[in-house]
Amino acid sequence: MAMISILDQATINKIAAGEVIERPASVVKELLENAIDAQSTAVTVEIRDGGCSLIRITDNGCGIPRDQIPTAFLRHATSKIRSADDLSTVASLGFRGEALASIAAVSQVELISKTADSFTGTRYQIEGGIERGTEEVGTPEGTTIIARNLFFNTPVRKKFLKTPMTEGTHVAAVVEKIALSHPDISIRFIQNNQNKLYTSGNSNLKDLIYTVFGREITSNLLQVDAVYEGIYITGYIGKPVIARSNRNYENYFVNGRYVRSNLISKGIEEAYKPFMMQHKYPFTMLHFSIEPETLDVNVHPTKMELRFSDGEYVFKRTVEAVGEALAHRELIPEVVLDE
Ligand code: ADP
Ligand code: MG
Repeated sequence: MAMISILDQATINKIAAGEVIERPASVVKELLENAIDAQSTAVTVEIRDGGCSLIRITDNGCGIPRDQIPTAFLRHATSKIRSADDLSTVASLGFRGEALASIAAVSQVELISKTADSFTGTRYQIEGGIERGTEEVGTPEGTTIIARNLFFNTPVRKKFLKTPMTEGTHVAAVVEKIALSHPDISIRFIQNNQNKLYTSGNSNLKDLIYTVFGREITSNLLQVDAVYEGIYITGYIGKPVIARSNRNYENYFVNGRYVRSNLISKGIEEAYKPFMMQHKYPFTMLHFSIEPETLDVNVHPTKMELRFSDGEYVFKRTVEAVGEALAHRELIPEVVLDE
């Protein structure tokens, strides 16, 4: 056996990048979340070739001060938490300080950023973890990050990418979910120079549902507005008449984060059981506000999974909130459109 030795930082970064960056959609998710954490009100996502050759995300958020840009690209460098104690109350989407380091390890990155109190902006380039230069540029307040040629230096990973068409579909799904999770942020999505999605950011959830899902669904919604101890459930659910044949239309967000949760899915489906045929699934667009102390978002690097300190309680309140809205459905006529 060879000598045991510690890997160099570039190698560590390349390996670790695999945990968060699997495909273009993961890059888009991380960069969009960063834009949201930066208090942006408008974000544009642009991709070419499914994001394989180019991903560009432009926000109007707080920007990164020039002297902190290189630090932002170091692993475990974050402005969002200071110590493990903060994990129990973390409200930002990010906190692991891994995304920029991971993306820069496996693509060619250009970052342009300007803060409010700086007269000029900065352009910073880093490719495969190697710095390529910093310069002063004129630019509006906010941040643009461009990631080119994903996995250019990890040919094996690159081989696992699907066709640009498939990768583009995954990116579109991520952008859609994040747009739905933030009705207060205007999101534009451009794919191969074509406008694919534009949300106004006017905070109206029904407008947003219309933009993304169209008239049939928007015409058949029931409102949910339930306040319980430590949990607040708001949004819309579809009347049973617009049942779907897969779970893709079960949207729910916990504290502004798009997540998957068996507990919440089961709770929703439990409430619909009396009204729904087997193998049919409802449309939902529910926002859960839950006290950060009662959930653990640090279960998986992509933070898609959640752990609740009292899952049973969350399940029961979900059944109750959805059940309550469904109980009133007779009062509202169903609208069936033949489109
Ligand atoms: P995390 O989001 O977990 O903190 P990242 O690697 O994604 O880690 O980002 C590192 C840091 O860079 C962030 O904590 C933040 O301070 C800064 N940053 C990243 N993207 C942006 C952005 N779009 N606008 C302002 N600051 C940003
Ligand atoms: Mg981040």
